[in-house]
Amino acid sequence: MHLVTIERADIYETIKVKSALVRLLGPLGGMATFVGPGERVLIKPNMLSAKPPEAAVTTHPAVLRGVIELVQEGGGVPLVGDSPGIGRFARVAEKSGMLEVVRETGAELVEFAESMEVPGEGTFKRFELARPYMEADRLINLPKLKTHEMMTMTCAVKNLFGAVVGTGKAAWHLKAGADREMFARMLLEIYQLRKPDLTIVDAITAMEGNGPGSGDPRAVGLLLAGTNAVAVDVIAAEIAGIPRKLLYVERMADKLGLDGADRSTIRTIGMPVEEARVSNFRLPHISDVQWGLPPFLKNRLRHYLTSRPAASPEKCRLCRICVEACPPQAIEVRDGKLHFDYHRCIRCFCCRELCPDGALDVKEGALLRLMKKYL
Ligand code: SF4
Ligand code: SF4
Repeated sequence: MHLVTIERADIYETIKVKSALVRLLGPLGGMATFVGPGERVLIKPNMLSAKPPEAAVTTHPAVLRGVIELVQEGGGVPLVGDSPGIGRFARVAEKSGMLEVVRETGAELVEFAESMEVPGEGTFKRFELARPYMEADRLINLPKLKTHEMMTMTCAVKNLFGAVVGTGKAAWHLKAGADREMFARMLLEIYQLRKPDLTIVDAITAMEGNGPGSGDPRAVGLLLAGTNAVAVDVIAAEIAGIPRKLLYVERMADKLGLDGADRSTIRTIGMPVEEARVSNFRLPHISDVQWGLPPFLKNRLRHYLTSRPAASPEKCRLCRICVEACPPQAIEVRDGKLHFDYHRCIRCFCCRELCPDGALDVKEGALLRLMKKYL
């Protein structure tokens, strides 16, 4: 059985968060189970972009502080690291409040800048992953529960994509293309190469709507923990009420027969799931209804069955950030306007995540609109 603990934590107040963390980890043996004296413990929060804690884009600094202090009390040496999807690491650390916590606690901030080659053990034969991520003695995964326009949810497994350094992320988007199942497989293969010793989810304030960068904060009031990241994701999705058919990572984990994917092998401790469940958790736009279609139909009907990004001319300043970041180079500026090549576009929605002005909307294909009525 895989254990996932659930604990109530309503506000980001340092003392309250820390005592909730102690209660959360108790049934798993406490932090001492995961940290040995002198061990270098890498804590991997969600550092997606330079947003303040109240935007709910990044793991909250109060949760980070609590985890750092528990690691220190266990005799471990805490390192805090990531490679942001958007923007400079130093700026993200500062704006998210994590830099201050790191300075005040004496932890070490580690930018994932150097990568090392790691042979793949599944479909993908080779990965380039951050060296500090691979070489730390212990790994504590510290995701935030958020919606995700491409994968529906980002939590424990998706947070580990930060181990891919900088522009390597865009390359993986490009390699997987519009195939969300392939992307999910890649995320799971990264997870299997370096499984976290412990995952703690910040769901005190989660993100609903059009996450991971542009959704809305949603008070959920919970912390979750477990040693199996797949199982933690399964429970997080159940609490948020996200149907399995929309969860690409969990469905792929099931298909691959990974530990933790089967709900009947997970036992929850602490607050019962029925009590923890949140109602009306708003999901992102459903961007894809191609499940189960044969590839030749997927390709022909793609335009009608998927959502696609579209610029709002009143808001777009033509700053070109999206143009430069688009993995397949499907965006160009012509005649003073943004143009999208939808045959190239892989529907990763990185452009929407990156646009500083919220100038990109989502347009739904005609068949998608029709089919959503029956979903
Ligand atoms: S246009 Fe946007 S959604 Fe399409 S591939 Fe480029 S970044 Fe991804
Ligand atoms: S990032 Fe936003 S504002 Fe800049 S060009 Fe793209 S859509 Fe326009």
